[in-house]
Amino acid sequence: MTATTIFRARRIRTMNPSRPLATHVAVRNGRILGAGSLEELVGWGEYVLDDRFDSKVLVPGFVEAHSHLMEGALWRFVYVGFHDRVDPDGRLWPGARSIDAVVDRLAGENDRLAGSTQALVGWGLDPIYFGGRRCNRHDLDRISTTRLVAVLHASLHIVNANTAALEAAGYLREDIRHPGLPAGEDGLPTGECKGPDAMAPIARQVGLDAGLLTADAEAVRAFSRLCVRKGVTTATDMAGSLTPESVAALRSVTGAHGFPTRIVALLRHLGQSPQQVVDRAVELREQSTERLRLGMIKLVTDGSIQGFSARLRWPGYYNGLPNGLWYTAPEQVLAVLQLALAGGVAVHAHTNGDEATDMVLDAMEAALALHPIPDHRFTLQHCQLADAAQFRRLRTLGMCVNLFANHTFYWGDAHFEQTVGPERAERMNACATAIASGVPFAIHSDAPVTPLGPLFTAWCAVNRTTSGGRLLGAHERISIADALRAVTLGAAYTLKLDGEIGSIETGKHADFAVLDADPVETSPQALKDIGIWGVVSNGRPVAAGSP
Ligand SMILES: [Zn+2]
Repeated sequence: MTATTIFRARRIRTMNPSRPLATHVAVRNGRILGAGSLEELVGWGEYVLDDRFDSKVLVPGFVEAHSHLMEGALWRFVYVGFHDRVDPDGRLWPGARSIDAVVDRLAGENDRLAGSTQALVGWGLDPIYFGGRRCNRHDLDRISTTRLVAVLHASLHIVNANTAALEAAGYLREDIRHPGLPAGEDGLPTGECKGPDAMAPIARQVGLDAGLLTADAEAVRAFSRLCVRKGVTTATDMAGSLTPESVAALRSVTGAHGFPTRIVALLRHLGQSPQQVVDRAVELREQSTERLRLGMIKLVTDGSIQGFSARLRWPGYYNGLPNGLWYTAPEQVLAVLQLALAGGVAVHAHTNGDEATDMVLDAMEAALALHPIPDHRFTLQHCQLADAAQFRRLRTLGMCVNLFANHTFYWGDAHFEQTVGPERAERMNACATAIASGVPFAIHSDAPVTPLGPLFTAWCAVNRTTSGGRLLGAHERISIADALRAVTLGAAYTLKLDGEIGSIETGKHADFAVLDADPVETSPQALKDIGIWGVVSNGRPVAAGSP
C-alpha cells in the first residue's frame, strides 16, 4: 500500500462545481484521492496528516495558457521595460521611463562589457510610453558605435538595432525595400526591424536567435522558479522551434526529480510547409511525458496592436497609421488548419487585430466544412479586438479564446488614446462577452510580454484598470470567481487538460497554489496582492524561493 498524505488547510477552493469547498485533500502517488472533510478522507486508509497549510488557502495550481520559456532566458539580458519588474530570483528591476533612461541603463552595461566584443542586448522596450517618439539607431549609437547593440520590444515582435548591428546584418543599405524595415530621411533603415523575417538577421548577430526562443536548461529552471513564485503548476511555451535537440533538453530538465512545473510546449509554424508542421506535431505528440506535453501547433497571423503591426478592419488605427502586417499568409493559415484538423492536431492561432480574427474564422469555417471534427478546441490566442459578432462565430465554430487580460493595464491607455480609440479599447479582451456568448476562455500574461502571474491577470480581468488609473470597459469586467476559473479550469480546457488539472477533485494531479487568502473573499482591488507561499506540484510542496 502506497503512502497517503492528507493536507489540511484553512480552506480549499476546489473549482469542482459539485463540491466547491473543502478543508482537507488526500493525495496518493501525486494524484488526488479526494477533497472533503477529514472524516470522509480517512476512509481511504492509513495516512499522514500534513498541517503545514493550516493558515493557508489552497486553490487549483494556476495554469498559464500563454507564456514563453523565453521569460526565463531574457533575464540574462538587460531589462529596459517601462514598468518595474521582478526577476525569477525576486530582485526588483525599476522601470526605464524614457529613451534616455533606456540608453543610460544600456550604457552602464556597455561600460561593464569593456574589453569584450560581446553584443549588448536589452529587452522590454516599449516606445508607446514615449509620446510617439520611436527609438532609432542614432539613439542606440550613443551607447556604442562599435559594439553590436539590439533592444527587443516588450511585444517581442520588433527589435531595434544600432548602426553597427544593422551593418553586421547587411541592412545598412538604401536599396532595402522590406515592409518590416522602415527607412529614415537619409534613405537608410531607422533601426527598427519588425516581424520575424526582418528581425532574424539581427537576432542571429546578437545572440537573440532560435537558441533563445527554445531556451536552455538554466532558462527553463529560472522560468520554473518564477512559476512557483506565482502559484503556477502548468505553463505553456507558446511558440518553440522544438528541434530534436531542444526536445531532448526539455525532456531532460522537466524530467528531473521534483521539477515543479508541467510544461506544455507548442510547435511554432515558421519556415516549414503546412504538411511538415502538422507531421512534426504528430511526431512530437508521441514524445510527451507527464511533465512535458507536446503535439500542438502555434500560428502567428499578425503583429501587435501597440506596435501598430496588427491587422485591423475598417476604420483601422485611431491615429491614422497604416494597417499592420500578415505574419503568416492567409493561404498558409487555411492549409495548416485543414491538415491539422485532419491529423487531430490542435492549433492555437495568434490574432491581435479584428481583421486577423476574421481571417482565421473564415479559414476555420472552410476547414471545418472539409473536416467536421467535433471538440477540436482550436483556440485564438489574444483575440484582443474581437467584437460580439466574432465571439458568436467562435461559438458556432466550436473555438476557444485565450484573452490577453494584462493588456488592459499595460497598454489600455495607449489603446484608448492612440491605437484603436475609446469604443474599441473598451471592448478589448472581452471576458464578459466571452461568457455571454458561451465561448470557453482563458486569460493570460504572454510572459515575457507582460509579467507572469495569474492572480495579477485575474485582477486585470476583474478590475479593468489601466496603468494610468482609467476604468476601461466597465461592462467587460467579470467576477473574481469567473476570473479564478479562467486561470485554472478555463485555461486547462483550452489545452485539453481539463480532465487532468484545473480543479481539486478525485483523480486529478495534486497541483495546488498555496495562498495567504481566499481570492473569492478578497476585495477586487486586493486580488493581485494576495501572498503566495508557493505550490504543491504532483503532491509535493515547493515553497517560493526554494532552489
Ligand atoms: Zn506569445
